[in-house]
Amino acid sequence: MKRRAIYPGSFDPITNGHIDIIQRAKGVFDEVNVVVMTNPDKKTLFSVDERISFIQSLFADDSSIVAEGYEGLLVNYAQEKDIYTMIRGLRAVSDFDYEFQMALTNRQLLKRMDTVFFMTDVSYSYLSSSLVQQVSKFGGEVKEFIPEIVLNALKEKFSHE
Ligand code: ADP
Repeated sequence: MKRRAIYPGSFDPITNGHIDIIQRAKGVFDEVNVVVMTNPDKKTLFSVDERISFIQSLFADDSSIVAEGYEGLLVNYAQEKDIYTMIRGLRAVSDFDYEFQMALTNRQLLKRMDTVFFMTDVSYSYLSSSLVQQVSKFGGEVKEFIPEIVLNALKEKFSHE
């Protein structure tokens, strides 16, 4: 039986920190569904289609990585797909409270749901999508934090402001 997991997030945009987690998750799982969660109340820099297409292009040659969007509760997605393991990344201690709350809530909603945490690579421990957005918006160099496809999209986005 295939070992499958869901890696949910905003991925606004995907960074090298996320990519590192996906690559390491492949050592543990046969298939990872990277799920761009959409929340109509949350303003994002990139549309859900843009965020999905970055991930799809990056893993175009890798059939073990599936990227798609989902609006709603993650536990509903899990049931639809019959995948009950979720991956999250942990950076500083500051991530812990939120992740702990989410993991327990998801298990409360669906007993079978488990969360597996991957510790960040030390070189990405400070890296977040919002940091990339802010630095890029003000013209700072972000090329070591993100893949080229995202870098180009960010340049395009902020060149019109
Ligand atoms: P969310 O808005 O759901 O937190 P994100 O796209 O910011 O979505 O992050 C998705 C997951 O990836 C979270 O578990 C987050 O902690 C993790 N993550 C984000 N950046 C990094 C990083 N640099 N190293 C390790 N994990 C990360």
